[in-house]
Amino acid sequence: MSFLRRKLRTALADNWEDIVEASMAHWAHLDDGERQTLADLIEAIVTTKRWEAANGFELTDEIRTVIAAQAGLLILGLDLDAYDDVGTIIVHPSTMRFHRTSSGDIAGTVVDGDVDLLGEASYGGPVVIAWDSARRSARHPEHGHDVVFHEFAHKLDMLDHVVDGTPLLRDQATRDRWVEVCTQEFKLLRAGQGGHLVDQYGATNPAEFFAVATEVFFNRPVELASHKPDLYGVLQDFYRQDPADRVRRNR
Ligand SMILES: [Zn+2]
Repeated sequence: MSFLRRKLRTALADNWEDIVEASMAHWAHLDDGERQTLADLIEAIVTTKRWEAANGFELTDEIRTVIAAQAGLLILGLDLDAYDDVGTIIVHPSTMRFHRTSSGDIAGTVVDGDVDLLGEASYGGPVVIAWDSARRSARHPEHGHDVVFHEFAHKLDMLDHVVDGTPLLRDQATRDRWVEVCTQEFKLLRAGQGGHLVDQYGATNPAEFFAVATEVFFNRPVELASHKPDLYGVLQDFYRQDPADRVRRNR
């Protein structure tokens, strides 16, 4: 029995550490101190946030633990206050299909269509997550995607009440550097010259760019640090983590 499991954790399933170890590849790269911090964050996220299941779906310890572990990893270098804008976490079994009506390109027309969503985060609203996608990404970070990282990154961005791809940064110089680097990378992506790591979806707007870049930062950190050191640097500075170093030291 490990040190972590011996500590009394009434809010979590007895086998929470087995769940995280089996379900989240990142766990293998964390040292004891980081695991302890993450354990505290998992417990806090499970107990202080409201969890809801989509109609007909039921939440399990595994679902809550794995999503909380991914959300916790994102703020391993920050603290729980970073999720002040997260109230409710709603979990769907898989991709959500919504019927949406929106304005068409021609004035006065509307376009009806079905939209498939893996997740959603809106200012002041819940975080919505498709469980099958979250589970797959936690096991296979090498694909570079993670709906939990993505949606919770949007929540970090919303903490300053502006959804613009620039989260709260410690001072003006840091903010200037952030805007300079991210604007440059965003423009490259929009021009189709963003490289192979950052998904084209990040070209939608600066907020999506931050969320997509966050997915790459945590899931393909060594490649991002090598191909886009400036972008890696500002994300490392904001998240106060060096996931590329974690991967390298465990190789
Ligand atoms: Zn998004």
